[in-house]
Amino acid sequence: MTVREIPILDLRAQHRALERELSSAIGEVLAGSHFILGPNVAAFETEIAEYLGAHYAVGLNSGTDALHLALRALGIGPGDEVITSTFSFIATAEAVSILGATPVFVDIDPRTYALDPRLVEEAVTPRTRAIIPVHLYGTPAPMADILSIARRHGLAVVEDCAQSIGATIGGTMTGTFGTISAFSFFPSKNLGACGDAGMILTDREDLAERVRALRAHGGRKKYFHEEVGLNSRMDEIQAAILRVKLRHLEEWTRGRRRVAERYSSEFANVAGVDLPREEPGCRNVYHQYTIRVSGERDALQRVLRERGISTMVYYPLPLHLQPAYAGLGHKRGDMPNAEAAAETVLSLPISPDLSEEDQQYVIESVRDFTTALSAA
Ligand SMILES: *Cc1c(COP(=O)(O)O)cnc(C)c1O
Repeated sequence: MTVREIPILDLRAQHRALERELSSAIGEVLAGSHFILGPNVAAFETEIAEYLGAHYAVGLNSGTDALHLALRALGIGPGDEVITSTFSFIATAEAVSILGATPVFVDIDPRTYALDPRLVEEAVTPRTRAIIPVHLYGTPAPMADILSIARRHGLAVVEDCAQSIGATIGGTMTGTFGTISAFSFFPSKNLGACGDAGMILTDREDLAERVRALRAHGGRKKYFHEEVGLNSRMDEIQAAILRVKLRHLEEWTRGRRRVAERYSSEFANVAGVDLPREEPGCRNVYHQYTIRVSGERDALQRVLRERGISTMVYYPLPLHLQPAYAGLGHKRGDMPNAEAAAETVLSLPISPDLSEEDQQYVIESVRDFTTALSAA
């Protein structure tokens, strides 16, 4: 078998296909030379709010700031607790910590990789102000259960949609269930800019207005500042790029789902490999196609690397065990589902542009490994 080079994600094909559209969009920004909060940011906000089905979108400079400013707009600060998943990218928790509030980590449901609603309920205290569910890998979190807990205890819900743009529950987009939600357009996300960008989405005018002010130094009018804010504006060139790409997002989602379905049908009878799931009524957008391989994950990753196939472990260490959160006093064994996931998950190459031949090569390489293993 000849070795092929298959990166986990290759954006070059996407950018080659869109080269003319992107160049002309960037060219228009240069011609107009309105680089900060110009017409493209405003148009992108309108277009994406309509696509997702919410009243307000506010463009920001990253998904991390979207989480941070969403929480800040809700008035969360020192002394407050925010419940979130221990199995996420650290930005989810950083947004809480940077405001002086405390992230309260809970374990995941291994089927969805999202927070386990039963454990969320147990973690609520009189100090709890909000819950941040994460739609990890593009798999929708169980929003009905989370919303009912939030309602019972009077808590805000901030959805972390960094990996889930276009994912739906009962036909409704993730990001429209919570009080406010955060999106990232980091280049590798399903809708990626050519640099950093992010956004909040909400139906509440007061929250949208507050984030709008906070992103531009805490003022609604230039040089008049109601509160201390920061600079977290979405870049005009990134907005122009995102407007082009948004028009292709549904087609890309269909492409990702096609790749995922093929993996799942080819791996259906492969012993020792657990497949990602799609709960009834949900649309998974497969930001990652993540399998689980008990015991032999690292060996599989090594063998695939030797064959030129790059894979990733998202994430190798749950947040409650990160040195940055040692102060919370957690230890190994506290969150067994997330700890087991960290040791067994492996994300395979997936993108709308992954060719059938390349995917076949990945499938055969995984199969060869598991066959050799069961023969040993
Ligand atoms: C990417 C990501 C973020 C942060 O987004 P940035 O735009 O990189 O700041 C937050 N949460 C999750 C789950 C992510 O995957």
